[in-house]
Amino acid sequence: RRTIGVLAVQGDVREHVRTLESLGVSTVRVRRTSELDACDGLVIPGGESTTMAKLARTFDLFEPVRQRVKEGMPTFGTCAGMIMLADRIEDGTDDQETIGGLDITVRRNAFGRQVDSFEDDVHFAGLHEPVHAIFIRAPWVESVGSGVEVLARVEHGEAAGRIVAVRQGSLMATSFHPEVGGDARVHRLFVDLVAGPK
Ligand code: GLN
Repeated sequence: RRTIGVLAVQGDVREHVRTLESLGVSTVRVRRTSELDACDGLVIPGGESTTMAKLARTFDLFEPVRQRVKEGMPTFGTCAGMIMLADRIEDGTDDQETIGGLDITVRRNAFGRQVDSFEDDVHFAGLHEPVHAIFIRAPWVESVGSGVEVLARVEHGEAAGRIVAVRQGSLMATSFHPEVGGDARVHRLFVDLVAGPK
């Protein structure tokens, strides 16, 4: 059985653990490298990306996570976790570091000029029925490199067309929070990614 870690230095760790466990996955909260070593895949939760990056440094997890991501460990970032996986940030703080790996540019707090938080149904590549997406001070993906697959876009309102979910190889990210609301389908896609080709 595969084990999926949830980076547990900051953010909504519990919701991810609960969603993964609802799928029968064994999970570990990752606060130290020995816990990271036990993982076949990792979720980086929502929260606050600058704080999360600093705490990951404090916990001596930043470089080890970066190394595992580089080695191809399947990793799924939501919201702040998406920012952590992005190679480039707009509207970050001057010294903001990311783990990187996804060839995307994200804009932090991108929807903020309109509203802090909102919900929208989005079609998600690989899923039949739309996902009810919850955005909380969310980033959007400003641009993607050629190896990046767009999985979902905002469909209504001023932000219609903005990219809010992507995949590149073993890395996946959403600007919204699929761990909130009891729908485990997006996590299921990630679990399948961790399981590898059948
Ligand atoms: N605005 C946060 C950040 O920049 C992300 C918000 C979230 O994860 N819900 O890190």
